[in-house]
Amino acid sequence: MEKPLNVCSDFETCQARALRAHELLCAEYGAPFRFFSTKDALSELISALLSHRTRNQESHRAYQQLRARFPTWEAVRDAPTDEVQQAISACTWPEQKAPRIQAVLREISERCGGPCDLAFLANMPVAEARAWLESISGIGPKTSAATLLFSSLRIPAMPVDSHHHRVAQRLGLIGPKVGEGPAHKLLSALLPPDWDAQQVYDHHEALMFHGQKCCYFHTPACGRCVVLDQCPFGQARLGTPAAAEEAK
Ligand code: SF4
Repeated sequence: MEKPLNVCSDFETCQARALRAHELLCAEYGAPFRFFSTKDALSELISALLSHRTRNQESHRAYQQLRARFPTWEAVRDAPTDEVQQAISACTWPEQKAPRIQAVLREISERCGGPCDLAFLANMPVAEARAWLESISGIGPKTSAATLLFSSLRIPAMPVDSHHHRVAQRLGLIGPKVGEGPAHKLLSALLPPDWDAQQVYDHHEALMFHGQKCCYFHTPACGRCVVLDQCPFGQARLGTPAAAEEAK
């Protein structure tokens, strides 16, 4: 699909490039960005599980229908699985997501010793809160970060979606073979540890918007890209002198 990517040579170079890209892309897309959700953490988690490989509109509809059909998350947990499946039929793979959501709800109830809204995660260090969620089968790094950051907890954990991942790879912040899952740890490590939830959110949103509006999968619009001077992939595509320098 793509020409070879030049990953930055050392951690400091990567960090400086990530921060410069953050600055330029936040300016380009108008940060600070408004958080789109005010859900509690458990609701955000279920919403994230529904959203896997599903368009936003459809997963939103599935979530609304699930909430309308069952008064509480305990009711979802204890319902016949085919009823849950029917309620979330607007999203992809409801037959897989219904039992997974119920298993996650059962596991959380067991760990908490009863109904639990996950608010206690706010009292943990970010890495610990992420590890707690990710130790539940079916919850990966993107879902754990989305739960912590997008929910009303506003914990600075960074999700990496496919757009964010593609832009980071082309900027050389991660290697060409690093998948979305492992990218979470590597890309988070480039951000200043004292960044708050708004800064982490802005970083994620800015890279995601860039993937949606400029750094397209098939034909990135490098000629009008505000981070071209930071991007070895774009420079190589356009054949700029900086590309030749980078390739040495
Ligand atoms: S220069 Fe091209 S490849 Fe690089 S980030 Fe911009 S659009 Fe993407």
